[in-house]
Parts: sequence; structure tokens; C-alpha cells
Amino acid sequence: MPHTPRTLTAVLLLGGWFAAAQPTAGQAGKKVYISVDMEGLSGVSGDDQTSPGGAEYGRSRLLMADDTNAAIRGALAGGASEIVVNDSHGGQRNLRLEDLHPAARLISHSFKRVGMMEGLDETFDAVIFVGYHTKADTFAGLFAHTGSGVVRDLEINGTSVGEGGLNTMLATWYGVPVVLVTGDDQAVVQVQEVATEARGVVVKRAINERAVELRSLEVVHREIEEAARAAVAAARRFPPRREGLYRVRLQFRNSLYPEIASAFPSIDRPAPDTVAFEAPDMPQAYRLIRVMYRFISP
Ligand SMILES: [Zn+2]
Repeated sequence: MPHTPRTLTAVLLLGGWFAAAQPTAGQAGKKVYISVDMEGLSGVSGDDQTSPGGAEYGRSRLLMADDTNAAIRGALAGGASEIVVNDSHGGQRNLRLEDLHPAARLISHSFKRVGMMEGLDETFDAVIFVGYHTKADTFAGLFAHTGSGVVRDLEINGTSVGEGGLNTMLATWYGVPVVLVTGDDQAVVQVQEVATEARGVVVKRAINERAVELRSLEVVHREIEEAARAAVAAARRFPPRREGLYRVRLQFRNSLYPEIASAFPSIDRPAPDTVAFEAPDMPQAYRLIRVMYRFISP
């Protein structure tokens, strides 16, 4: 059987890869959105790393930039021409511009109406989640929580979601695929239950909510870069998928939050520790969920 000489095959394969990886001349490349949290970063294992004032916080800011830069390098190799990074942890002013790859723009600080997804709209081609963690009460998920420590569970149209699931639902509303998630092993699997097409990079193994087995930073950064390259190269937008109505149930760890939240018209209280409401669209549902868990304080 005739076959192509090996060198020619290599040239053809390389040419194909190059064509897929580079935007065609005169044609804009892809626009990529990267939302970066802190708990699921490589090298992060303790409370003193995740809030300003913590002894190891300064180290974590660099670790945050390192994982993010690996994703940016990969996205560029995969055909991105525009990259927006949204600092999505705590007060959302953890990433320093001087540590970030120059190809990206940085959304920094709060208040943001859609927090971890601020700035996302239908003009983007792909979403990447870096440093994500599991939802509240997940067995063995490192730093497991949803939004803040006060939430026990969040349900949207009957599906229980954490931050990754909620953020995926917003991206779906805009027709933008979530193509990659990085975090601990439990978080990656959990986010992929909603972001079903997303690739995953496991940067550490959660032993329980506090203990973790860390993988080599060097190896993890290589894996994030390669996964981001492949994910962005393969990313395809889809027509926005929109439900007619978004029914939200938010269960808290105490009854004081619902006590206050139920003062708003149209907020129901089906149980002492739970509020429920309906929103006509996902952005509005997202904004109201965020107000409930973050900006109501008994
Ligand atoms: Zn966080």
C-alpha cells in the first residue's frame, strides 16, 4: 500500500497544527475570558495564603499569576488575540498587573455586579476557569464553599451548583463555551458536571477540606499551558442557550440572612434558612444571588 514519506507526513501534520494554532492573516483571533480564583491554585494549601494579611499571601499572589500566565501562554498558542483576566477571589485585587503576561488586560477590585464573571458577554469565544474549588459541603474538597461561608447550597432550576457551575450557566446564556478548568481533583470533576465540554487540569489532590497533596509547579504549569492551547484552538461558540425562567433557591447556614433578604419584594422564604426567587434571565439571577450571599450582613 502506498504511503506518504515520514518527513512529508511530519511537515503536513506540523502545517495543519500551525494553521489551527495561528489566526489567519487579516482575520482576528479568538477572544478569551479567564476567571481566576485562589483556593484551587497550584501551591495553595492553607488559610494564611488566601487573604491579605496572611503570612503566605504574598507568595500566593505570585502563584496566582504563574497559573494564570500558563493559561495565557496556552491561549495565545491556541489562537487567542485578545485576553481578559478577571481577578475573582475575595476582594478581587490579588493579581498584580506587573506579574501578569503583557498580552492580557486585567479586571481588578470589587464591587462588580457579576463578580467572578464581570465583563463577560457574547463577544467572547472561550472561557477558562483557573484556581477553582468545590461547592459548599463537598466531601474532601479543599476550601469547599459557595460564594461565601454562609451558603449551604445553591440551586438553579433544580440543579445544585457551586461557583464553577453558576459561572458556567452565565457563560451558556451568552453562548460562550467553558473550555478549561483548573483546581483540585474534586473541583475539576464537579465543574465538569456542568461544563461538560471543558478540559481539566488537576493541580493538586484534595485529601479533605484542609489537607492536600500538591503537584510540582513546573509540571502543572506545562499541563495548564498545553491544555489551554488545545482548548482555545478547539473552542467554538454556540447559539445562546436560554431558559424561559430561572428559579433560584439559596439555603444558608443560619436563618438571619433569609430574615433580612425576604424583606425584598418577590423574595420568598420556603424554609427558615432558605430564600427563593425567580428571574427572567441568567444575568439578573446571578446579580441577585451575589447580593444575597455577599452584601447582606445581619
Ligand atoms: Zn476564592
